[in-house]
Amino acid sequence: MKLSNTWIEKTTAPAKKAAEYEEYDPVSRQVISRYRRLLDEGADPHEWAFAWRTELNRGGFPAYELLMEEVVKPGKCVGCAACVTICPVDVFDYVDEQPVATRASACVDCVLCVEACPVLRPADNDMQEFIDLQQPSIDDGYGPYAYGLYARSTDPEILDKGQDGGIVSAIILHQMEKGAIKGAILGDVYPDNRQVGLHKLALSREEVLNCAASRYTYSPNTLALQEAMQQDIGPLAVVGVPCQIDGLRLQQNSSIRFSVSTWYRKNITLTFGLFCSESFSNESINKLAEIIGEDPASIENINIKGGVIIRLENKEVKTVSLKRYREWARPACLYCLDYGAENADIGAGGIGIDGWTYTLIRTKRGHAAFQAALADGWLETRPLSDEPRGEFLMNRLSANKKKNRPLPPLMPTHDERVAMGSLCPKTFFTTGPGAPKTDEEGKSS
Ligand SMILES: Cc1cc2nc3c(=O)[nH]c(=O)nc-3n(C[C@H](O)[C@H](O)[C@H](O)COP(=O)(O)OP(=O)(O)OC[C@H]3O[C@@H](n4cnc5c(N)ncnc54)[C@H](O)[C@@H]3O)c2cc1C
Ligand code: SF4
Ligand code: SF4
Repeated sequence: MKLSNTWIEKTTAPAKKAAEYEEYDPVSRQVISRYRRLLDEGADPHEWAFAWRTELNRGGFPAYELLMEEVVKPGKCVGCAACVTICPVDVFDYVDEQPVATRASACVDCVLCVEACPVLRPADNDMQEFIDLQQPSIDDGYGPYAYGLYARSTDPEILDKGQDGGIVSAIILHQMEKGAIKGAILGDVYPDNRQVGLHKLALSREEVLNCAASRYTYSPNTLALQEAMQQDIGPLAVVGVPCQIDGLRLQQNSSIRFSVSTWYRKNITLTFGLFCSESFSNESINKLAEIIGEDPASIENINIKGGVIIRLENKEVKTVSLKRYREWARPACLYCLDYGAENADIGAGGIGIDGWTYTLIRTKRGHAAFQAALADGWLETRPLSDEPRGEFLMNRLSANKKKNRPLPPLMPTHDERVAMGSLCPKTFFTTGPGAPKTDEEGKSS
């Protein structure tokens, strides 16, 4: 796999297109029309996958064509890279947050790439069983969890480098010190563009701490899984935004049993999902810098707490309104319904108390890792009742994201949204053209 970020490389060359989409394989064309028929007929979304699974016993088909036609071409790809990392023969490069089938002729018709795509279909009904929830489990509308609390690291260095309470980095480091994991799949940064993310397989304390804190641009963390698998480094923790955790779970739980998904099942033992309303384009960093009249390279950290709080290298802090920043939200985030990383072992966000991480323990693995770090004095906690606004925001932001209905395959394409003049992922289904219509009495229809 080659990684290419043309914004970073400052090149004006268009992204490579490997396949001539009109030249689809006849079986791919059949699958695509079967898939569309299921959508048109209003079939149960859990049945959509049968459009391609029926071909498995007949030898499969070049499924990247379905992915390109239904996800990438309509502009619905969220960039999670699951198709890239699951492909056993490295068909894809990752160019500007999208897969490109550069080595299409290598395809072995295994269909894994479409199985792993969180945009094409909802996860299979057995997903919750697969992730092994800590019991008793509750679901208040943002995915099943056993308990929630505010937590922060007790190590001043981790706390200083972390985005909120630094618990993601702290638990990873604790797991590494105890020998429970060998390393972690994280987001690093380009040295001269520190607000733009890059994937990283981190194997030392220094590397984990260099990756700490948040970048609000899209960081394709999970691309580092390829390096880990090639070198057979595991067990590992993975940190990602919800779309990446969803893509990873689909890779692990694929109904197609291939050695790649077996490797992910065995070696990814802990996942951290960062709460996420949306991420922002790489250009947004230049725009923010322009608004505050600073050099983009001087931005040390960005945190979103009601407004966009920008900390500069000289420790000066400037604030820009989130409404203004939202102009550069990634349009593709419309095709994502997951705010709380509902399939992660541990969910983590910055809502509630400044300097603490709002933490949701969802699974047995998440519970064991969290409690081990707590017992060894690596973490301190406070109850959620200390700042009820955290829970209020959790409910509201998650409910807003779930308004992104219907499911992505039934949503308008990027071009259709351009024609409607509404590319904002946050408002399309709340106040934009997709919002429920209200009658004269204000009731929604
Ligand atoms: C794009 C984005 C949007 C977010 N939106 C919200 C939100 O709406 N509400 C909310 O409560 N919280 C949100 N968060 C989460 C929040 O910013 C913190 O990541 C979270 O509170 C954990 O903080 P921490 O101090 O415990 O983590 P830390 O110990 O600082 O660790 C953070 C980890 O995140 C990884 N990371 C950094 N940037 C990215 C990225 N772009 N993509 C994937 N991984 C990355 C780092 O490698 C690091 O391992 C968002 C995070 C991101 C990256
Ligand atoms: S959403 Fe993820 S799996 Fe689907 S095409 Fe895009 S990168 Fe691949
Ligand atoms: S909003 Fe969804 S698609 Fe967009 S970065 Fe966040 S998790 Fe991924």
